[in-house]
Amino acid sequence: MKFASQLVQFDAAPGDRFRPTSTPIYQTATFEQEHADQFGDYDYSRSGNPTRSVLEEQIAKLEGGTRALAFSSGMAAITAVARTLRSGDEILADSDLYGGTCRLFTRILERAGINARYADAGDLQSFAKQITPRTRLIFVESPTNPLLRVLDLCALAALAHANNALLVVDNSLMSPYLQRPLSLGADIVLHSATKFLCGHADVTGGMVVTRDSKLAEDIYFLQNAEGNALAPFDSFLLLRGLKTLKLRVDAQQHNAQAIAEFLAADPRVEQVFYPGLKSDPGYALHHRQASGAGSVLSFATRSVEAARAVAERARMFQICVSFGSVHSTISLPGCMSHASLPPEIAASRKIPQELVRISVGIEDAGDLVADLDRALPQSILKSSECQLVTRLGRAD
Ligand code: PLP
Repeated sequence: MKFASQLVQFDAAPGDRFRPTSTPIYQTATFEQEHADQFGDYDYSRSGNPTRSVLEEQIAKLEGGTRALAFSSGMAAITAVARTLRSGDEILADSDLYGGTCRLFTRILERAGINARYADAGDLQSFAKQITPRTRLIFVESPTNPLLRVLDLCALAALAHANNALLVVDNSLMSPYLQRPLSLGADIVLHSATKFLCGHADVTGGMVVTRDSKLAEDIYFLQNAEGNALAPFDSFLLLRGLKTLKLRVDAQQHNAQAIAEFLAADPRVEQVFYPGLKSDPGYALHHRQASGAGSVLSFATRSVEAARAVAERARMFQICVSFGSVHSTISLPGCMSHASLPPEIAASRKIPQELVRISVGIEDAGDLVADLDRALPQSILKSSECQLVTRLGRAD
C-alpha cells in the first residue's frame, strides 16, 4: 500500500466485537484478569492500553520500524532513549539541536554521569574526530531547527555503526511522510508527536521507533517502569490527526514554497533558510533523502527590530512556539524555542537574533504571502535599501 492508503487503511480496533471503524478510547486504568495468576493482553494502562497500541502499531508501520512506543511528550520520548545509557557513556550531537534537547543533555544527563558533546555534523570529517570509545549515541535532526541545515543521514549512520554507536534521528520536522530515517540506516527515530503527527496543536506527545526489537524492549521496560506513556484520549486524538497527515503536509508544503520564493526575492530579507529553494546549500542532499522540504522555514531580517516587528505585525501568523499545526505560526527562536539553551551552548550556536521562524499552515498561500508582505517593515531597512523597496511600490 502507498503511504496515503496506509494512513487510513488499518485495523482501528483489533479484537473489538462491535467492529468500530474508529479506534475507541479505552479510558480505563485497569483491566480485569480472568484468573489471579494469569494476565490478559492488558492489565494496567501504564503498561499497555489498546488505544495506545493501535497508535504505536500505526506509527511503527509508517516509519518502517519494528516497534513504536508513545510517550506523554517529545521530551519524555528523548529522555527514555537517553535512559538506555549508563554513567560514563557519551552522546555526540549535532550543534543545531532543539533547545529543550540540549537542556536535557547538558543539565540533567550530566547529573547521571552521561556526557553530551556538540559538533557540526555537516562537517563529517571533523565530526568523526569527536567520537570516542565511550560514544554510544549520535543524535541529530535533519533538517535542523531553526537553521534548516541538511545532514547526510546515510553517512552519519555508517559513521555511528563503524564506531559501535547508534544513530538517533529526531524526525519531528519532516514526519514519516517526507523522510524515513530508518530506511537510511538510523537505529532510532524520535518524534515530538505534538508537531506534524498531531497536526492540530491539541496534543503533547512523543514517539520512539526502532528497527531492533531488543532495543524496543529495553525502551518499553523504561516506559513501563518510569510511567511516562501517552494517555488513551491523547492516543485517540493523535490517531485522528494522523489520518490527514499527507493532505495537511502537501498543502502546508505548497504554501511554504510560495512563501520561501517570495521572501527570497524581497530586499527586506537578508537570507532565507529552506531546503525547498534550489539556491539552498542543502537542496540536493535533502532531496536525495527526503521527498519534500516540509513547511518550516526561517529567514533573517536586516535587524533585530525588523524581526520583532514582522512577528508582531503579521495577522495570520500567531506568535507561538512549536510547529506543524494546520494554522500558521511565527516565532523568534533566539528568544523563544531556543531560549532554554544553556548560555555557553547558546553562545556557540550562532542563532542570529534577527532570525524569524515560521511554520506554515493550510491557509490560502496568497493570503499568507500578502500578510508577510504587509508585516515586513521597510522603515527599519538601511536607507539605500529603503529606496529600492519604495521604487518597487511596497507600502508599509
Ligand atoms: N524535538 C523537536 C525538534 C522539537 O522542536 C521539540 C519541541 O518543540 C521537541 C523535540 C520536544 O517535544 P515536546 O515539546 O513534545 O516535548
